[in-house]
Amino acid sequence: MSENLDPFTIARTQLSDACKIANYDSEIYNALSEPERFVQIKITMKMDDGSIKTFQGFRSQYNSARGPMKGGIRWHPEESASLVKALSAWMTWKTACVDIPLGGAKGGIICDPRKMSEREIETLARSYIRRIADFIGPHIDVPAPDVYTNPQIMAYMMDEYETIVRRHASSVITGKPLPLGGSAGRSIATAQGGIYTIREAAKDIGLNLNGAKVAVQGYGNAGFWAAKILQNEFNCNIIAVSDSRGAILDNDGIDAQQAADHKSKTRSVIGLNGTKQISNEELLELECDILVPAALENVITNKNANNINCKIVAELANGPTTPDADKILFEKGIDVIPDFLCNAGGVTVSYFEMVQGYYRYFWTEKEVFEALDRVMTRAYRSTVEQAKKFNTHNRMGAYIISLERVVEAMKLRGWL
Ligand code: NAD
Repeated sequence: MSENLDPFTIARTQLSDACKIANYDSEIYNALSEPERFVQIKITMKMDDGSIKTFQGFRSQYNSARGPMKGGIRWHPEESASLVKALSAWMTWKTACVDIPLGGAKGGIICDPRKMSEREIETLARSYIRRIADFIGPHIDVPAPDVYTNPQIMAYMMDEYETIVRRHASSVITGKPLPLGGSAGRSIATAQGGIYTIREAAKDIGLNLNGAKVAVQGYGNAGFWAAKILQNEFNCNIIAVSDSRGAILDNDGIDAQQAADHKSKTRSVIGLNGTKQISNEELLELECDILVPAALENVITNKNANNINCKIVAELANGPTTPDADKILFEKGIDVIPDFLCNAGGVTVSYFEMVQGYYRYFWTEKEVFEALDRVMTRAYRSTVEQAKKFNTHNRMGAYIISLERVVEAMKLRGWL
């Protein structure tokens, strides 16, 4: 049977399942099943070759009950209103799951920055902020990087916002370069946070990380750093990695840094010496201990879930597993560390960046990671505890904690 893979439909199915398990009525579901505000914009600009292009962009502000809303900005050709809404919902559950005082939002532009010049990228970044400046701010909604956006793009965006409001307001954006008020550790925070949860999950199932076989789908910010930290700090054996062009396999182990260097030279991991080329689909079904989806959504569905052959799925990507696949993986006894827990290291260090920006005093990387470890380990433990209590999988465990916190804040404000 084919599944509905529309991202916002999936996010709402998960919410509805969690409401049923935790016994929330339809009034609560209705209050939580749409963004508070959804902004759709259009940006028309001159390209370097003299042509004129119009881009569509979005900002979805899902829930602000627990604090200023927070969420990255994706630039991707497959971006859509539905995906941005889903990602903003997941941001709401994510900030609640790790218990940082923020709400959830997400933004995006339908474009392909890989085909754009630096001038075009800067113009697009500044134009996006001009369109949404009235709706964001350090105490309202704070964007950050996501797929195909980076610290330099955040710097253009922050500068444009400060030009509009005519004062310094660096906490309007996180994921900034260090000289502009970025936080130590932010660039690797998503992976580092995920690794703390992998360490805990491995302890729970008695998996020795030394020599554990790891496959990583997606070799960008999240995937590369995960591979590198797992290899350098835990001596894991990285057997496969991939990017949008395909995957590479070497059962004797791939050097994480060499794969990254090869990708920066040739724009792909494919062709790295001593590796065999396989497809992204084959990578997901490899026999390994830890599978790390770190690319895009809907890669583990009811079509391939039965063939997943690992002990832990650590979801650094947002939305990689569909609700049908979740059930299959749970029945197979595969331990899934759900996305909005596993990849919450990014938003947690973004929150630390906001805090440091407010009082303009900056922490060392060691201080950042010690604080991150505490947050991630606590969130992992509460997720597993809830999952056990309700005899469900970890994703529902994480939903139950998050819902409880968001609903409590809405009730205290008198919204419910
Ligand atoms: P990125 O742009 O740095 O890297 C994305 C990687 O995915 C690239 O290597 C690209 O080649 C690869 N990719 C794209 N399409 C693919 C496909 N069809 N198959 C396989 N690989 C493909 O992005 P990122 O920041 O690493 O984000 C990756 C995932 O992690 C996304 O789902 C994102 O939402 C999530 N995430 C990222 C952060 C963060 O702080 N970077 C935080 C939370 C969640």
